[in-house]
Amino acid sequence: FSRPYLKVYEQGGVEWDLKIEPTALHSLLFNSAKKYPQKTALIFYGHKVSYAKLAEAVRRATSVFFELGLRKGDRVAVMLPNCPDFVIAYYAILSLGGIVVNTNPLYVEREIQHQVNDSGSKMIITLSDLYFRVKNIRESTSLEKVILTGFTGKPETLSNDTLWFPDFYAQDRPPALEVEINPMEDLAVLQYTGGTTGVSKGAMLTHYNLYANSQQTDHFFIGEEKKQLTLTVLPLFHVYGMTSCMNLAMAAGTTMILVPRFVPEEIAQIIKDYKPTFFPGVPTMFIALLNCPEFKEYDAVMVYNSGGAPMPVDVILKYQKLLAGTNTEVGEGYGLSESSPTTHCNPIFGEGKPGSIGIPFPATDAAVLSPTTGEFLPVGEVGELVIKGPQVMKGYWNMPEQSAVTLRDGWLYTGDMARMDEDGYFYIVDRKKDMIIASGYNIYPREIEEVLFEHPKVQEAVVAGVPDAYRGETVKAYIVLKQGDTATLEEFQAYCKEKLAPFKVPKKYEFRDELPKSAVGKLLRRKLVEEERKKLEEA
Ligand code: AMP
Repeated sequence: FSRPYLKVYEQGGVEWDLKIEPTALHSLLFNSAKKYPQKTALIFYGHKVSYAKLAEAVRRATSVFFELGLRKGDRVAVMLPNCPDFVIAYYAILSLGGIVVNTNPLYVEREIQHQVNDSGSKMIITLSDLYFRVKNIRESTSLEKVILTGFTGKPETLSNDTLWFPDFYAQDRPPALEVEINPMEDLAVLQYTGGTTGVSKGAMLTHYNLYANSQQTDHFFIGEEKKQLTLTVLPLFHVYGMTSCMNLAMAAGTTMILVPRFVPEEIAQIIKDYKPTFFPGVPTMFIALLNCPEFKEYDAVMVYNSGGAPMPVDVILKYQKLLAGTNTEVGEGYGLSESSPTTHCNPIFGEGKPGSIGIPFPATDAAVLSPTTGEFLPVGEVGELVIKGPQVMKGYWNMPEQSAVTLRDGWLYTGDMARMDEDGYFYIVDRKKDMIIASGYNIYPREIEEVLFEHPKVQEAVVAGVPDAYRGETVKAYIVLKQGDTATLEEFQAYCKEKLAPFKVPKKYEFRDELPKSAVGKLLRRKLVEEERKKLEEA
């Protein structure tokens, strides 16, 4: 298969064949604490924590976790929003050879129970405000200890096997024994994925996988000044926030502004007050900011990076127009839980291409395979995107069959349909499983969404294949109009007819005030399809 992207690296003067030594992930934090002890590592609602303080808190927490019986290979569910305790717990668990099980704090009891039992977690750390959800299921799980933390102080009563996390690092104590880590084999994180589209699977990410991705990102984003202050509003329990915000910050000695919730007006204020140099986010965040009147100091940020879901071309172009003549760059990258996550990004040392996910990361290969023959496809042809690189997971936890399907001949099968252009830039056409088959035609929802985003009245749009007795599936568009705008369905139908072949034109339209989103901010197409299916069943 061809590697035209090597030319882009050459032109940018950047080494593609990055050497990544096997290294334990938590050493990132301890190395930065040695190099920059006084530098601020975290800012949380104005409260600052230096690298030296952070490393000391982690060391103390490690010692308590050890006393509680945490040993190498044990799993600990971390169910926290962005806050300093997330960072402390994460690196303390890793220091003992424990495995972090990232758990979404929005999970309901059934989901927590499944993830805790599937991973066999023996401890969970969460907010005292969320304890009621754990309390109801704890007897039916593998949990031995519950550790609480919170922003409103220690609860008056805690049961015997429930502990208060801030006590872990309140006092000095003897360090825990050092644990030997084999970075290539030992797991650092179980990253559950696919919960919204099927059975949730735990991607086994080793120390090396995650360390490698932090190094690849660090190497790719050249320029120290860009790595000074990361706006961290992506949840750290999501693979994108965990690596592109937290592990990258620890690798580069960056300050992280931790924000637990995305509220556009608050983010606009933080940008104004702090002038963060790096802002990784998902498209819905960047779209919401474009529509937020308080978002005026957009060029206070040096690099905006979109990932996690397709960034509509129209939105990238709007940012480029807004930022023309400034030193601010806006780019897009791509990744998935199974690859720690990033595999592609638009280079900031060369021309980025709107609509593209960029070129493969350093030390990463990518190719497009025919879904029918499994052969490598030439430039321009659409097939399944496959990835090879040090960031690719070891497999799925306790799922050898699923692992064997996803990891084949050294390639990770992403389940995304893509093509590569002659310069080696990749374009995601859509998810394989989101392809709509209506009256025998293959239709990719993303193409229709791109057209809808160009409409001046559209704020957000999702296109889905909904069940249809006649066509099998039919194309339906869900649209959120910009504030103050009104429109008719006929208007949209006429608009789509002008821009799309007849078989792609949505037959159904629905205006909504908002669209369902995941905790990280991805639009949930599946949820809309499920709603539609339920409606049909009830009819
Ligand atoms: P997750 O593992 O939950 O983070 O989801 C990964 C999936 O998100 C990928 O397989 C893609 O379908 C999608 N994705 C991530 N980044 C992009 C992007 N830049 N463009 C299109 N899809 C993306």
